[in-house]
Amino acid sequence: MATALKQPIIKQLTLALLKPDICADAALPPKIYQALNAKNLDIVQQRQVLWTEEDAGSFYAEHKGKFFYQRLCGYMTSGPFQALILSSPNAIKEWRALIGPTHPVRARIHQPTTLRALYGLTDTRNSFHGSDSDETAKNEIGLFFPEFDVDAWHRNNNSNN
Ligand code: UDP
Ligand code: MG
Repeated sequence: MATALKQPIIKQLTLALLKPDICADAALPPKIYQALNAKNLDIVQQRQVLWTEEDAGSFYAEHKGKFFYQRLCGYMTSGPFQALILSSPNAIKEWRALIGPTHPVRARIHQPTTLRALYGLTDTRNSFHGSDSDETAKNEIGLFFPEFDVDAWHRNNNSNN
């Protein structure tokens, strides 16, 4: 009897943030979880975070000196927010596609069904973050979930068996 070849499904991890404006309204996070579910983006770990100025500055160090940097750090320290590790076969691109363009006004014009189009308030208060590569995902996951072993997770979840 022929046995069907089992194709391995390689899963990727990404780091998502539901920024303070989303977490300030208890009605919003459940809507985001529904959107994740609809795209088969699984929540692997989740925690609430409250940042100091120093935390915000080190996460957004690449933007230091830009005109929006102070506003960005003020926003990200304005209240608690959620950090999530997401997984799916193409999690990094899938999550960034779901949240849409950085600027909510552009998102509303060009990609009106994305989460930033639906929930984003301003260029700074744009409600979501998503890692932009495997390397940044690993670093960002390490920052928010220091006890989470990314390599071990891949070994346990991406085997061919
Ligand atoms: N940001 C801003 N004004 C801008 C561009 C970015 O306030 O013109 C903020 C916004 O909150 C964004 C964050 O800085 O999410 C990081 O910017 P980046 O260009 O990395 O955008 P992202 O990767 O979040 O889409
Ligand atoms: Mg970015």
